[in-house]
Amino acid sequence: MRVVSVNESVFIATNRTAFGKRLIDLPLMRRQLAKMLVTAEQGRSMVFHTARVLEAADRGEANMAKVLRIMTPLVKFRTCRDARKVAGDGMEVRGGCGYIEEWSDARVLRDAHLGSIWEGTSNIVALDVARTVRREDALSALETYLAGLNEETESVLGSQPAVTEAFKRAAGLLHAVAHDPSREVETRQAASAVYNATSASVMAWESARQTALTNERSNDRLVLAHGVLRHKLGSRDPLAASQSGEDDDLMSLVHTTLSDASIAEAAQ
Ligand SMILES: Cc1cc2nc3c(=O)[nH]c(=O)nc-3n(C[C@H](O)[C@H](O)[C@H](O)COP(=O)(O)OP(=O)(O)OC[C@H]3O[C@@H](n4cnc5c(N)ncnc54)[C@H](O)[C@@H]3O)c2cc1C
Repeated sequence: MRVVSVNESVFIATNRTAFGKRLIDLPLMRRQLAKMLVTAEQGRSMVFHTARVLEAADRGEANMAKVLRIMTPLVKFRTCRDARKVAGDGMEVRGGCGYIEEWSDARVLRDAHLGSIWEGTSNIVALDVARTVRREDALSALETYLAGLNEETESVLGSQPAVTEAFKRAAGLLHAVAHDPSREVETRQAASAVYNATSASVMAWESARQTALTNERSNDRLVLAHGVLRHKLGSRDPLAASQSGEDDDLMSLVHTTLSDASIAEAAQ
């Protein structure tokens, strides 16, 4: 659903002109699309990777059953929650036409709100994430699994300290919160951190896999992984100037790879 919103948005931004320029060539629009893209692709990676983990768990790998146990509520919590934001942004990109019922946006936005209810509400599934840590030691299982994934990534792409460090810090927070009832109010923050850090590892690994399969360096998923680290796990002074060019890699991803693919898809 979120991917639909991004594809629709890129299609609109590529075809609509305002102030004598295509929307996609306007800096603020490209930044908006880049942030939508990071969040949507995170969700895609987490859902597909959870399916991969499910297959391994079904083959009887005990550790993978634990990894599945924590990844499932992570996805139900954060992917569903993020769908609301991306679908709302997609409506905004279409402007006034996005709000009226003649286009798909209103339906996509309404449906995007359902996941966070019928999959379990955000509070409840975040509490379930903490329960898996407390009762089933699922966070250690995820840690071991991601260490293996990161090793595979680094053997192809070279060292990725920011990716590995992000998970260590996020896991530390979740572990502390899950074992301290007085910190229940931080449960969603901690579960979000682990979701974001896990997705960064998974996306970096996807770049490594793609590189290994094609024998050609493939950076797209790695760029998204670093987008996650910057936008979801980094801290920034809201009064400081942005570092020049910090999102250039993401913006060019929107402009090149994604726009061509979505235009072709939308035209079908
Ligand atoms: C279209 C649709 C289809 C559905 N299909 C199914 C289905 O197939 N199978 C099924 O089992 N269910 C289904 N449901 C039910 C759905 O799972 C529940 O509506 C959902 O779990 C919320 O429970 P509730 O409605 O009892 O709300 P409540 O439990 O009353 O929750 C109300 C609010 O209180 C919050 N809350 C509750 N407890 C806590 C807590 N401990 N800490 C903090 N906040 C808390 C919740 O987050 C929520 O925001 C469906 C719902 C819909 C709308």
